[in-house]
Amino acid sequence: MGQAFDTKSVHLSKKFNQDLHSKTTPIYQTSAFKFKDLDDIEKFYAGEKEYLYSRVGNPNPDELAEAVAELEGAPAGLASGSGLSAILLGILSVAKAGDNILCSSDIYGGTYELFAKELPDFGISVTFQDFNQDFEAAIEENTVLLYSESVTNPLLRVENLEYIVRIAKKHKLKTMIDNTFATPYLVNPYQTGINLVVHSATKYLGGHSDITAGVLVGDEELITHAKQKGVNLGTALSPMEAWLTVRGLKTLSVRMERHVKNAQKLADALKQHSLVDKVYYPEHVSEKGNGAIVSIDITESCNVETFFKVLGWVKIVPTLAGVETSVSYPIATSHRNLSKDTQQELGITKGLVRISVGIEDATDIIEAFSNAIEKAKL
Ligand SMILES: *Cc1c(COP(=O)(O)O)cnc(C)c1O
Repeated sequence: MGQAFDTKSVHLSKKFNQDLHSKTTPIYQTSAFKFKDLDDIEKFYAGEKEYLYSRVGNPNPDELAEAVAELEGAPAGLASGSGLSAILLGILSVAKAGDNILCSSDIYGGTYELFAKELPDFGISVTFQDFNQDFEAAIEENTVLLYSESVTNPLLRVENLEYIVRIAKKHKLKTMIDNTFATPYLVNPYQTGINLVVHSATKYLGGHSDITAGVLVGDEELITHAKQKGVNLGTALSPMEAWLTVRGLKTLSVRMERHVKNAQKLADALKQHSLVDKVYYPEHVSEKGNGAIVSIDITESCNVETFFKVLGWVKIVPTLAGVETSVSYPIATSHRNLSKDTQQELGITKGLVRISVGIEDATDIIEAFSNAIEKAKL
């Protein structure tokens, strides 16, 4: 007599551990890994067997982490459930209660909230400083880390990474850079001497606006420490999300090539437009181009409400980096919770529009924005 239906129905999985030579990496959609016997468990703790439990480690997030580490030229990496959790793990691998972080003031809104509202509860203080000016004087006795972004949001200031590394070495500090906007296609901060590089993989690395994920790469010792924090804080990325992100990564180079070309064309066209007061598009980011985000200020000449209503196929989305061109409105989303004074200081006006330039035909993109601006003319 065989097993009863109730038993059979829960033991249906038979294809485990068969190397079927699939072209792509399988999705290891499992919360845990089996052990043959008790010796096998000992092997895991002796470091001879890689996987135990997916919060601790899983092949798909590991594949993603290794791929990004390789693209950044860093020795080690980890993947986590969001860009913000990757940032938190990077911070906690360096700073503990009583320490201070010196941070550029024009950082991503979500990062600002994490640093201003949560880190103080961990006993970590954060000093926000304009990194456009000399920030060396703001380094305190207990400062352990300098933090900034390679290209900032939404005004697209290009950070001077060499200077950050020089000042950090002089004061024996660690350095961490958010490379989300530039991507490893354009900038490799680790190659400049930065210790930790973080990505919201939700953006260009995934590239299709269908996942939320983060990756942290950098010095081996810091990543090992950050991984341990991730296990204890439970920041694991799911196998499926990791797999989708790796799939996205395979086209990073061709997507970025088109994104960057289109953005340059749009920025050039809008600079010529009499109704656009200001175009923010960086220069000299890399030999391959200057990124795919263009911000414009139309405060003086256009009705912003009308502008957003007449954009046609360009959608309002509070994120960036998808293959579709989209727009966001910083003052109503990412920078909403800042005080009026801080908004003004940072240049977040009521006419500031951030454009995430997609991979469509450049002529259509330019036309969509020119039309909307004409129609919104005051
Ligand atoms: C989106 C973003 C983050 C946060 O990433 P999540 O994946 O949303 O957690 C951090 N930094 C920058 C520059 C971003 O654009």
